[in-house]
Amino acid sequence: MTAVHAPLGERALAILREVFGHAAFRGAQAEIVGHVAAGGDALVLMPTGGGKSLCYQVPALLREGTGIVVSPLIALMQDQVDALRQAGVRAAFLNSTLSAARADAVERALVAGGLDLLYVAPERLLTPRCLDLLGRAQLALFAIDEAHCVSQWGHDFRPEYLQLSVLAERFPGVPRIALTATADPQTRAEIVSRLALAGARVFVSSFDRPNIRYAIVDKDEPRAQLLAFIREEHPGDAGIVYCLSRKKVEETAEWLVGHGIAALAYHAGMDAETRAANQARFQREDGIVMVATIAFGMGIDKPDVRFVAHLDLPKSIEGYYQETGRAGRDGLPADAWMTYGLADVVQQRRLIEQSEAAEDYKRVASAKLDALLGLCETAGCRRVRLLAYFGEAADPCGNCDTCLAPPETWDATVAAQKALSAIYRTGQRFGAVHLIDVLRGKATERTAKLGHDRLSVFGVGAELDEAAWRGVFRQLVALGLAQVDHAAHGALRLTDASRAVLKGERKVEMRRSVARGKGRRPAAAPVGVRGLAAGDRERFERLKQWRRDEAHRQGVPAYVILHDATLAEIAHRRPATLAELAAVGGIGAKKLERYGAALVALARGEG
Ligand code: ADP
Ligand code: ZN
Repeated sequence: MTAVHAPLGERALAILREVFGHAAFRGAQAEIVGHVAAGGDALVLMPTGGGKSLCYQVPALLREGTGIVVSPLIALMQDQVDALRQAGVRAAFLNSTLSAARADAVERALVAGGLDLLYVAPERLLTPRCLDLLGRAQLALFAIDEAHCVSQWGHDFRPEYLQLSVLAERFPGVPRIALTATADPQTRAEIVSRLALAGARVFVSSFDRPNIRYAIVDKDEPRAQLLAFIREEHPGDAGIVYCLSRKKVEETAEWLVGHGIAALAYHAGMDAETRAANQARFQREDGIVMVATIAFGMGIDKPDVRFVAHLDLPKSIEGYYQETGRAGRDGLPADAWMTYGLADVVQQRRLIEQSEAAEDYKRVASAKLDALLGLCETAGCRRVRLLAYFGEAADPCGNCDTCLAPPETWDATVAAQKALSAIYRTGQRFGAVHLIDVLRGKATERTAKLGHDRLSVFGVGAELDEAAWRGVFRQLVALGLAQVDHAAHGALRLTDASRAVLKGERKVEMRRSVARGKGRRPAAAPVGVRGLAAGDRERFERLKQWRRDEAHRQGVPAYVILHDATLAEIAHRRPATLAELAAVGGIGAKKLERYGAALVALARGEG
């Protein structure tokens, strides 16, 4: 280890390399570590996967005493502690899952100075007994994870978090660092005031997740599209599929299982036991696809989720970003994939309109939905749109569907006029399906019975196929040029804005619908697991098998032993000696000692 008297920055780097096996700090990590290690308070805003943990773990190791980590995620504490112990860190946790005897042992270790890090559930921490215990221990720092849980407006609100300001009063000399991936200014202000962090330095990172590839495809046959996506892009990978309703969650999971995908379901209507069991399997096993409502959320910190798919439209860009952010926390390439169609717009608008909420709430919800629709319909870079929403400027990313296969746009003014006329001439009483029949001149029982086959608009739109017309109607609604009448079973109506289009005063530009199968990913840049050559891939699979056995033997999740990224690098670089292996990212001193020989043998092709 580096000498105690070496400059702080050097000692921090030494710990990063020797304990965690990483070559360099990322982004603002070095600055944050330096600030907290020197005794300063901090508020850290970093996207999921940005590397928040090291921001308190390294200072806790640098300072005398124990770092106390407050986290609401009890289910994860065991795994977090296991991962730290693998790296040789003296870590433990205190929560309601521990027996009295084991909690006792942890408490004694704390007071005796035998712990580097202690994870504690907030309700436990706030008991007089626990505060008293902390008073008898030497404390390095307090880390308050998921700090947005103080916000009464957010959906992760935890009342106990409101009382955490007591830490500032009881332990004035101990630095506190609050961390969250929630970006908006309102939540930030609430954290500062509720946690008494007015004097803290605020570190705001970019919210970009460059390894996530965003794609939004036209909804055609969503399940078949999903299955094709999983089979072609992510066979055997872990992923999350979000659906709006419990029923759809169950049906989709069942359907995927029927097609040979290892899928599980998760929603708030299931009994707690099944839900917990499914979550644990997802977390611990390789390659499970979790089909879920948004009840499956905070507390998933599986690093190797390779895709997040949406079969239904979320409510806002915030929701979309939070959900897709669960992909690729390990920094390797991952996909955020969504199918989207007119029915989604109709459904979300109806949910807002028919909700019991106050008018101003509905207005906000409606504006948020519009921003999300803008993202869905944009012909420009998705990432630029996303980051702009969070107040960040960016250049086109080259790693989203619109950058990789720029959609054609076309002058849809005439088509829009025809569509709006069809709405008007049929009395503003019909949905898109019937309107498309009328426009395409399809003789159905309904068109005949209603006399719509005698209208001037009948058959005026034969030049576009059905899918193209669906795209036109969807975009008319998304652009506010037509609206959905929920009182009349989703009939389309004109809006104030329609008039200008009908009168030829306003031009309408639209995205051309991308036929299924087209506009898919071109070959990705050779990075991470996906870019491994065939021989390396085989070696990678052998390493994974070894990791599975090892994890099983120790009773920990596979990623706690080593991450995919580390295995991929070993498979590719084939280190022949322990020294070469030590240069691989994610291999610290402890793991080198424990697994070095086995890994070098596997890399050589033995074992
Ligand atoms: P967050 O809590 O912000 O979601 P984590 O702390 O879980 O992020 O880190 C995300 C991933 O990034 C982890 O796999 C971690 O090992 C990795 N990581 C963090 N910092 C570094 C670094 N400086 N170098 C390499 N990998 C890092
Ligand atoms: Zn892009």
